[in-house]
Amino acid sequence: MSLTAKNLDIAGALNQSQSIFGGFESQWRKTQDYEGVFCPGYSVEESNAADILQGVAEGLGARAYQDLAGNVHFHFEGENSKTAPIMVASHIDAVPSGGRYDGRSGVVTGLAAIKALQDNKISLPQDMVVTVCRAEESAWWQSGVFGVGAKLITKEVTPELLETKRVDTKRTLSSHMQEIGMNVDALAGALKSDQVIFPYKELGHYLETHIEQSPALLDAEKSLGIVTDIRTYLRFKSGIIFNGKSAHSGATPQHMRQDAVIAGADFISCWTKKMQSLMADNDLVFTIPDAKVIGPGDTSVPEQFLIMPEVRSLDKELLERVKGITFGIAKASATQWHCSVDFNERAIQIGNPAKMNKGAHDVLMELSAELGVDVLSMPSGAGHDAGTFANAGVPSNMIFTRHGNEGISHNPNEILGISPDANPYDSGSDFANSIRLASAFLASGNVVKKENNQPFTQILQSNNVPTRHIA
Ligand SMILES: [Zn+2]
Repeated sequence: MSLTAKNLDIAGALNQSQSIFGGFESQWRKTQDYEGVFCPGYSVEESNAADILQGVAEGLGARAYQDLAGNVHFHFEGENSKTAPIMVASHIDAVPSGGRYDGRSGVVTGLAAIKALQDNKISLPQDMVVTVCRAEESAWWQSGVFGVGAKLITKEVTPELLETKRVDTKRTLSSHMQEIGMNVDALAGALKSDQVIFPYKELGHYLETHIEQSPALLDAEKSLGIVTDIRTYLRFKSGIIFNGKSAHSGATPQHMRQDAVIAGADFISCWTKKMQSLMADNDLVFTIPDAKVIGPGDTSVPEQFLIMPEVRSLDKELLERVKGITFGIAKASATQWHCSVDFNERAIQIGNPAKMNKGAHDVLMELSAELGVDVLSMPSGAGHDAGTFANAGVPSNMIFTRHGNEGISHNPNEILGISPDANPYDSGSDFANSIRLASAFLASGNVVKKENNQPFTQILQSNNVPTRHIA
């Protein structure tokens, strides 16, 4: 098999990919507020992008489905219809002022792999499902929950999530779902019952390819990354608020001041040193995505200062510990500067880290070596839908693709090639390598040993997963 994969002609797959990305270009917006791809989860724009993918998938012989949670699935039948299918999935929504390739390159790669195998007359050993997971990006939603579409499939979330509001429209998720023709009552009913939204337990494997989102592969001079684990986060969604006392910034004697910013600055300094020391023996990265004075004035000692630390790690217990450490440091800094500190404990979130499937990870490493592609085995710093499926029991893996501009992502300057001048659709590009590796993985079909009682087509039908038609 691998020899065939090595000699795969992927010219058609690259052309197809270029044409799909070309189709997405109408979503580029340049307004006063931001520049980039406009595509929130559960929006008309996201559905339109799914339509483009569906046109291509149907041309390759897929049958399209849209489950009750809005996720779009393109089902391809393989030779052994009872062998549990491989799902190749990612998201196509983008953060505000997003780039062209985050998430989207994963779905495009799935369809490219199918195209490459078809062009080279290699049959699929088992069924495949190329999936668009809805609303992966959390930035649009007040809940801060990421990977909503995938988490609705695995029922990791409750119907209350449907009432979260989109940050720009201030309308609920359920209202946005209705706008794109979804049946929200049916979805809520499925969440409250044992009705299957999508039969993920009958999948044999989940594979997600994604641009890397950091300069690690550029730095290591490797074309692709094979992910070992996915980090999770500790987030203070309502922030840590230092409370002082408003006073005249010139007239008030220094010893009588209760300066919230000075207390907060002391916290930042002490907390940063503590996090750095924890890094020595633990997997941990940290930042403070936001810090601001609440109600600032030109001539006053600030009364309130809000700080939002964020820590990520592969170790959930460490994050629980960091939460306590953070409280302790904040209280000490507040006391030292005659202030008090407030936490909204209910708004503190700790997610679940995820382990990628070791057997399939090793197969991906071996296939890369056979293909002559330089890869790096590495953890994922960012959360992905692959983590949701892995934690729900589906053997899952991720392939990262190197990209230039210092690996920048979630940004209009995101690129797919290694530099702004490089052609990502060239057969020697990193993107081409990701298509080769995904194709080889799908063609090998020897990773997933699971057999279902009936063909996946019948499983979809017996679970009443609705077919999808382009409006
Ligand atoms: Zn993404």
